[in-house]
Amino acid sequence: MPAALLALLYLALTCAPLALAALQGLPPRPLRDELATGVALTGLAILLVEFALSGRFRVVSGRIGMDVTMRLHQLLARAASVLILLHPFLYSGPQSLRPGLTPPGAVPLNFDWSGLWPGIVAWLLLGAVMVMALGRDGLYRHETWRALHGIMALVMAGLGVLHATRAGRYSSDPVLWGFWWVLFAIAVLSLVWVYAIKPLMKARRPWRVSSVTRLADRTWELCLDPEGHTGLRYLPGHFAWISIGKPAVSLDENPFSIASAPAEGSRLRFVIKELGDFTNRLGELTPGTRAWVDAPFGSLTLQRHGKAGGVAMIAGGVGIAPMLSHLRQLDADDDPRPRVLFYANRIEEQIACRKELDARSHSGPLRVIHVLSDPPAGWTGETGFVTPDVLTRHLDAEALTRWVFVLCGPPPMLHAVEDALLGLGVPAHNILLEQFSYD
Ligand SMILES: Cc1cc2nc3c(=O)[nH]c(=O)nc-3n(C[C@H](O)[C@H](O)[C@H](O)COP(=O)(O)OP(=O)(O)OC[C@H]3O[C@@H](n4cnc5c(N)ncnc54)[C@H](O)[C@@H]3O)c2cc1C
Repeated sequence: MPAALLALLYLALTCAPLALAALQGLPPRPLRDELATGVALTGLAILLVEFALSGRFRVVSGRIGMDVTMRLHQLLARAASVLILLHPFLYSGPQSLRPGLTPPGAVPLNFDWSGLWPGIVAWLLLGAVMVMALGRDGLYRHETWRALHGIMALVMAGLGVLHATRAGRYSSDPVLWGFWWVLFAIAVLSLVWVYAIKPLMKARRPWRVSSVTRLADRTWELCLDPEGHTGLRYLPGHFAWISIGKPAVSLDENPFSIASAPAEGSRLRFVIKELGDFTNRLGELTPGTRAWVDAPFGSLTLQRHGKAGGVAMIAGGVGIAPMLSHLRQLDADDDPRPRVLFYANRIEEQIACRKELDARSHSGPLRVIHVLSDPPAGWTGETGFVTPDVLTRHLDAEALTRWVFVLCGPPPMLHAVEDALLGLGVPAHNILLEQFSYD
């Protein structure tokens, strides 16, 4: 589905409650009361559609990119939260909040407790989900946070729909009532799909760890081989959710870019940096350990850039992983297009796969530009960060306008490089970007 169609579908779903309410033609209430209802209708619709923006649906993240999906997920969740938190405070005052004090001719609010309590609990849960999301790093394991986030969001959405359909002035109408419960059923199904159906499908296609090799400072190469099946169909730039040494149905799974190329065969290679509880234990993994792979995901692929005059890759640290996949596939395809890799690290010891990169740059149309922010004495490569000066020293005007740019690395670096490229005249549609965290 094209991205524009997805955007239209999103607008239609989130605006539908307002339109359906307006079409009911009920007698008007004070403006503030209509506003209070309007923000709640829109906020609840945004919240329910958030389940489709969780990053686990290829039809969305494959179209608009994982980064855009996650940025939208976070921004829209914040917008929905503000709307819903405002909802009870917008009612016009005691005359509409207290039964019996409604002005003559106006319709009183529904204070039936059976409709009120789900709204109060959902409202309080929303605050709790927001506080948990803000403190998610450091306080609990990422997997614990992810599971709690999903469950709490689902309970909150269910209670929100219950409140709307029991207490709402417009949502008791059969059409709007049906709309809410269908959206809620889709939200439930989306979680069932991600956490039950997909893992069960995955269980039929096991993988095994074939090797774990140290590549650079705190950086490992993990290789997985398919067991009893032909492996995965993917494109360079895709990423996979993997879990190792756990049951197929487990919340313990982490996303990693695939560093191997489809042309290399069925073995999957990953380049992984030690960061937390799973990645710090990579060196202890023994060959033969059972693994599970859910893939492919992401949109850092060159699929739609076949006509680009060349490929510029800008990687920060372990952001080299998807670039390796691209470089390996481009060489395997004998793609004649010029390519440049800007590879930024803090220190020289962090450079992964240096020999392979050197070999590829000597034998093919690749130039590798190493950039170190903390270079050793005698370093002859670029120093500091990937700035507009560094970029223009190695890319001419033709490259800036006709090449595709693939960016992957820490978020601050990515956004600085993206701004630099836009400032140098690179068209936005020629920039592909993937970040490894959405904090
Ligand atoms: C699309 C994508 C591709 C990635 N590709 C690579 C790669 O090729 N190589 C690599 O080294 N790293 C990659 N990462 C980052 C990698 O997923 C995390 O470093 C890893 O999951 C950390 O797990 P942990 O248990 O060791 O650390 P934890 O202690 O659990 O977490 C440390 C931090 O890692 C991040 N993180 C942890 N789990 C997840 C998760 N399930 N989803 C998203 N972020 C998480 C969070 O910011 C967290 O604060 C990628 C991330 C994403 C989103």
